[in-house]
Amino acid sequence: MTYRPIRVIGDPVLRTPCEPIREITDGVRTLVADLLETVDEEGRAGLAANQIGVSLRAFSWHLEDDLGYILNPVITYLSEETQDDDEGCLSVPGLWYPRTRAMYARCEGADLDGKEVVLEGTEIVARLIQHEVGHLDGQLYVDGLERPVKKRALRDIRERF
Ligand code: ZN
Repeated sequence: MTYRPIRVIGDPVLRTPCEPIREITDGVRTLVADLLETVDEEGRAGLAANQIGVSLRAFSWHLEDDLGYILNPVITYLSEETQDDDEGCLSVPGLWYPRTRAMYARCEGADLDGKEVVLEGTEIVARLIQHEVGHLDGQLYVDGLERPVKKRALRDIRERF
């Protein structure tokens, strides 16, 4: 297991949609170990593979005492009810902006043994699912900010990165 540096906004790997994992190779096993080790730190809730430079569809989470990962996650449910809270990203460090998200989300994928993994929940869990799957699609949460906030965010990002 290796603690891997986090890629920061401006790095093209963050803007490249990740490839599905078709086969469990040693590389995929290493990726999972690195995702788990790198997310297991105070203040880190979720980490997508491309944030550590690997363009494959996987992310890890660290929610209170629950450390986990999912391969090939697909969002299978988003509630119509929404939540408005500040969101941040390890790849856009030091900045937080209010981002509207579905209040409840569910995603389904698999583990290294091919067993089904379901991650679902409200509030921070729902926010994490939407945020991390966005990463795997080559998006950053700041893309979906509402207009006046987005303008401020893009200005802040230009100044900082
Ligand atoms: Zn992020």
